[in-house]
Amino acid sequence: MSETLSAAIPSTMRVSLLRGVRDLVLDERPVPEPGPHQVLVRVTAVGTCGSDVHYYEEGRIGSFVVRQPLVLGHESGGVVAAVGPGVTRNRPGQRVSIEPGVPCFTCDQCRTGRYNLCPDMRFFGTPPIDGAFSEYVLVHEAMAHPVPDTLSDEAAALLEPLSVGVWACRKAQVGPGSRVLVTGAGPIGLIALQTARAFGADEIVVTDVRPHRLDLAADLGADAVVNVAERAVTGFEPDVLLECSGVPAAIGAAIRLVGRAGRVVLIGMGGDEIPLPLDHVQRYEIQVTGTFRYANTWPAAIALAASGKVDLDRLVTHRFDLADAEQALTVAARDETAVKPVVRP
Ligand SMILES: [Zn+2]
Ligand SMILES: [Zn+2]
Repeated sequence: MSETLSAAIPSTMRVSLLRGVRDLVLDERPVPEPGPHQVLVRVTAVGTCGSDVHYYEEGRIGSFVVRQPLVLGHESGGVVAAVGPGVTRNRPGQRVSIEPGVPCFTCDQCRTGRYNLCPDMRFFGTPPIDGAFSEYVLVHEAMAHPVPDTLSDEAAALLEPLSVGVWACRKAQVGPGSRVLVTGAGPIGLIALQTARAFGADEIVVTDVRPHRLDLAADLGADAVVNVAERAVTGFEPDVLLECSGVPAAIGAAIRLVGRAGRVVLIGMGGDEIPLPLDHVQRYEIQVTGTFRYANTWPAAIALAASGKVDLDRLVTHRFDLADAEQALTVAARDETAVKPVVRP
């Protein structure tokens, strides 16, 4: 038996269902019962992410293919509505940020703390696992992270992309005095900028080709912004490159700027293959790494957002009802000021 909050939980809920390419409909489903160590969360906000847009537009991302109707959304937060047997970490009424992937907890990668690399990860909004474009979701108690009341519902949801920034800065060993180049001022780039600053970076330069986003980067604390459609970055030798553009041609040029023993973290998705300036990477002993999601990042992300060092609310540009989730996925194509559209179920 689950312990329920006195506020009645309805028997059915609305979900937004992706049935095929550009085919998103509102559907009704039974509200699930939490099983052992599971928590039922009433979703209050879900950020839309490039990957959601990708599934909507193309029905796949690389080897992940939508073969059956799928609920999108993996950047979410809400309020605990009920807890299943054995849950000790959460109680009804608690506001939580949802970590959207549940690993197996037992494989070699999980046991060494790299659970983001678990081959049996079940991740929200990634086929065939349903995500959070839904009034309620079930999550494992280990992945329902309590948040302080000073964090907005939207900020609680956006701790997920902040976790991407935290993981990238850890991989890049960003610290006091670091000089950081952030390529691409989308949501992840704008988060990477703020996270690098919070990690102690001294000088941060952000590049993009969209003036509106560069203005936002400057507002959020970049020391310099460069529109690379107009001019190249000069006179700056970063020791860290946080690549958030995913544009193959830009990546090679950015790596060439990195100084000796520098670190390059490839976060942006897009090109399957990139040209690598091998001579530069070899002579300067540059470490080049990818990142896949994150592990053990929520405590840091909560602290960064709660302290105000990272402003997630500034990224939210549009809000939509669950019935208008399609608008949330397409607004970026119509409105160049869109940064992070949020769905409010
Ligand atoms: Zn995302
Ligand atoms: Zn595992």
